[in-house]
Amino acid sequence: MGSLLSNCSSWFLFFVFLQLLTLVNGRNLSKASFTPIKRDLYHSSDALKEGIKALVHRHPDRLTMETIRTGNEGYNAEILVVTYAHGRRKIDDSSNIRILLSFGQHGRELITSEVALRLLSILGEEYPIPKMGPTSLNSTLERLVIKVVPMENLNGRKLVEAGDLCERRNGRGVDLNRNWSVDWGKKEKDYDPYEENPGTAPFSEPETQIMQKLSASFDPHIWVNVHSGMEALFMPYDHKNTTPNGLASHIMKSMLEELNHLHCLDRCLVGSGGGSVGYLAHGTATDYMYDIVKAPMAFTFEIYGDEEASSKDCFRMFNPIDLATFNRVLNDWCSVFLTLFETGPRRLDEIHSKVSLPDLEKLISIDEYLDGYLMGRKSRYGKQTEVLDFGMQEIRTYFRLFLLSSVLLMFMFCSRISKSKGSSRPMVSALPV
Ligand SMILES: [Zn+2]
Repeated sequence: MGSLLSNCSSWFLFFVFLQLLTLVNGRNLSKASFTPIKRDLYHSSDALKEGIKALVHRHPDRLTMETIRTGNEGYNAEILVVTYAHGRRKIDDSSNIRILLSFGQHGRELITSEVALRLLSILGEEYPIPKMGPTSLNSTLERLVIKVVPMENLNGRKLVEAGDLCERRNGRGVDLNRNWSVDWGKKEKDYDPYEENPGTAPFSEPETQIMQKLSASFDPHIWVNVHSGMEALFMPYDHKNTTPNGLASHIMKSMLEELNHLHCLDRCLVGSGGGSVGYLAHGTATDYMYDIVKAPMAFTFEIYGDEEASSKDCFRMFNPIDLATFNRVLNDWCSVFLTLFETGPRRLDEIHSKVSLPDLEKLISIDEYLDGYLMGRKSRYGKQTEVLDFGMQEIRTYFRLFLLSSVLLMFMFCSRISKSKGSSRPMVSALPV
């Protein structure tokens, strides 16, 4: 009997041991496992390029493309830009509404470039659009010139394709969405030096230089920076916890709410990037497009994210991995863009008719002038950047105080002259604000 009991207990212990082993192994397995790129769903960057080239070739009446290249210190970048202009509409016609869309600024967000390809296929009328016939598409697109950058960060994407699935930065480790000049280089407490490396100076990276020149020459009315990692429709600002003041900002927000309701089933976060995403981002493209290029509408769309995925499982975290979700994301977000093409121009007319003239937003503010001046000096003097980084805020304050005291002195001087001439007319109304 005793030996039977001891036999039973040793079997029991052996069974428990086996269970524990399976559990531990299972956990290890799930920790170590990560999802590879689904090559049956996703194009390689070369295949995307070839597909886009062929598409443009088939529709010379509406699509054109160019490849812009530049480089520095032995690092070269190229960016493909596709331009859509309806029925060979003149691209420089001033009545055009100009829209600039960028995809794939972060290497690991492959799904965004798939949306770009699908959207271009719809614009080439090679792919049907949900909820809209071709006639209404043509009338929607009549006034528009759309520039699409399908893969802003080709070098970073190539690293991802070679197996570095978590890479978001460019080919030499700089985050292209921290390399712009608005509030560049500021570091929050939760700043991640690996992920958010802003580069050695604003526009240090060839990719950002190309995009900056493109935005300056094209001067878009609407800018969208397309990312993945979550579902959101963001507007400025990324570097502070607020949206801009005024009617234009209000119109932008209501348009995002409409898009959220129509195509995101109210799932998407809507608001300022800095206020909604959970961290502030400095030196982003969208803040630059809004503050410096003065695009009346500047957005960041976050089109997909898998919150369940482990932080090491990057492909799954940023990209759909099954056909049904892949197709749903492509359809939903192409619909978002088509609604944007339809309602954006109407909303822009609203902004222009209601915002009083002269358009004060187009005037350069003291802050921007100083930012530009100091950034220029920073790049000229190279290493002396730290002093300027810390001193920027103080210099701005002193400059404001200087202006204010000059105005006061002028006022006192003028009132003395007017008194000495015996005039009783107040001079206040002549003061420049
Ligand atoms: Zn991103």
